[in-house]
Amino acid sequence: MAVSDGTTMMVVKDMGLVTQVFNDYKLAGLLGYLAIGHTRYSTTGSSSWHNAQPMYRQAGGTEFAVGHNGNLTNTQELTASMAMLPGMATSDSDLIAELVARELDIAAGPAPNGVASLSAVLTEVLPRMKGAFSLVLADRCNLVGVRDPNGFRPLCLGKLDDGWVLASETPALDIVGAHFVREVEPGEVIVISADGCQSLRPWPPERVQPRLCLFEFVYLARPDSRLYGQELHAARVRMGELLADQAPAAADMVVGVPDSGLPAAEGYSRRSGIPYGHGLVKNRYIGRTFINPDPGQRALGVRRKLNPLRETIRAKRLIVVDDSIVRGTTTRAMVAMLREAGAKEVHLRISSPPYRWPCFYGLDTGTRAELIAADLEVGEICDYLGADSLAYLALEALKKATGVPSAGFCDACLTADYPVPVPTSLSKPGLEVSVGWRPGSRERDTLAAPFPRRAGPTQAGADQAGPGQAGAGAGAGAGASTGTDS
Ligand code: SF4
Repeated sequence: MAVSDGTTMMVVKDMGLVTQVFNDYKLAGLLGYLAIGHTRYSTTGSSSWHNAQPMYRQAGGTEFAVGHNGNLTNTQELTASMAMLPGMATSDSDLIAELVARELDIAAGPAPNGVASLSAVLTEVLPRMKGAFSLVLADRCNLVGVRDPNGFRPLCLGKLDDGWVLASETPALDIVGAHFVREVEPGEVIVISADGCQSLRPWPPERVQPRLCLFEFVYLARPDSRLYGQELHAARVRMGELLADQAPAAADMVVGVPDSGLPAAEGYSRRSGIPYGHGLVKNRYIGRTFINPDPGQRALGVRRKLNPLRETIRAKRLIVVDDSIVRGTTTRAMVAMLREAGAKEVHLRISSPPYRWPCFYGLDTGTRAELIAADLEVGEICDYLGADSLAYLALEALKKATGVPSAGFCDACLTADYPVPVPTSLSKPGLEVSVGWRPGSRERDTLAAPFPRRAGPTQAGADQAGPGQAGAGAGAGAGASTGTDS
C-alpha cells in the first residue's frame, strides 16, 4: 500500500495475505489523503518481496507508486528499447514503473527543481505498452487509473462524499461506502486531483477494442461484482440454466462446487427441476487451490478445502456443477472424494467451455501441456477424472448467459483467438532468467503433464507460462486498488 499526505509518500508492502501484512498498528502510521493498494497474484516475475506491489520509484522531482493487474506481452521489446540490463526489472509491473520513472526524469529536464507531471508522462508511455493492464498510480497529489485499450481486466470509478475511489471490482466501493459512478472504459485514463476528476484518451480510437476477460464472468470476479452493467451472480445462474438445457442428466441432486460453482448449480437445479443440495462444505480458511503453483499441493488442497456431506450424498446420483476445469487436478480429487463418501454416480457439468489454451493476459493457468483439455476429447477427460459423464457449456451459451452477448470479450483460452499477439518466448520468469532464476522454485514450463496425453503435434501456437495479478483494498478520501480475488 502507498499513501501520500501531499508532501511525502509512504509505502508498506510484504508477502502474504492482507491480514498478515497489515494490522491496526501499521495502518495507524499510514497517514494521508490518497492511497493505492494491490494484492499481487504472481504471473510474470517470481513470488518475492521485490515483486510485491505497489512498485515505487523516485524520479523527475517527484515520487510515485503503481499497482498493476494484468500482464504485459511486450516486455522484451520494452526492455530492449530502454537498453535495460538483465535483472533491472524483475516483473512486467516493475518494468512499467521503470518506464514511467525514466520518462519522468526526461520530462523534468536537467534543472535541479524540475518536476514532471505523472499524467503527462503517462500519455506518452502507455501507448508503448501491449497486453493487459489495469493500473492505479499515485504521486504525492494525484491518483490515476488506467485501463488498457482492450480492457482485459476491469476497473471502476466510485464517489465518496469527499473523494473518489478506483477499484477492480464494484464490491470494493460498497465496502468503503462509495457509490458506483461507472466502469473505466478500455483505453481511458482517469486523473483524480484536488481539481476533480479528468478523463484522458491516450490511444488512437482504432486501437480501442473492448475484450473483457470472459473468465471474469465465469470465475474470477466476485459474484456481487457488476461488469458490463451485469451482476455476475445472476449471469452465473443463467450459465447453469443453459447448461441444464444443453446437457441434462438423470440424477437425484444437483451439487455446486463452492464457491464459484454454486450460482450455476442453482441455475441448473432450477431449470432441470432436480433438487439442489449442499453436498460439499468449504473450509473458509483455505484459499483458492487454483493459485497454488504446485500441482501436488493443489490436489492436497482440495481435501483441505472441501469436505463432503456424507449423509446428504450417500447412494445418490449427483450432478456436480463447477465453473471450469483447468488442469483437472482438483476436479479428479474431488470426484474421488465424492465416490469415497458414497455417491452412486457423479455427473460433472461445467459452466464454461473446455479451457484449451494458456492465458497471457493475467491468469496463471500454466502451459498447454498442463491444460487437461489441450488435446483430450471430452470423453477422455471424463475417463481421467473418473466421472460418470462430463459436459461443458458451449461458448455461445456462455456469452448469452453474460447478458451482454455482443459486448467485446476475450475468449482466447477457449478458442486460441488472442486479441493481442503473444510472443512464443513469453514466460513467467522471462525477466529474471538471466539473473539467477532457479528452475524448480516457481518454474512451470518444466512440469510434466499430470494426465495421459496424446501423441502428435498438439503444441501449436503459444505454449508458455501465463500471467496475472490480483487484489483488493480501499483508500480513505481518495483511494484505489486493482486486482481480483484469484
Ligand atoms: Fe480471460 Fe482466457 Fe482471455 Fe485470459 S485468455 S484474458 S483467462 S478469456
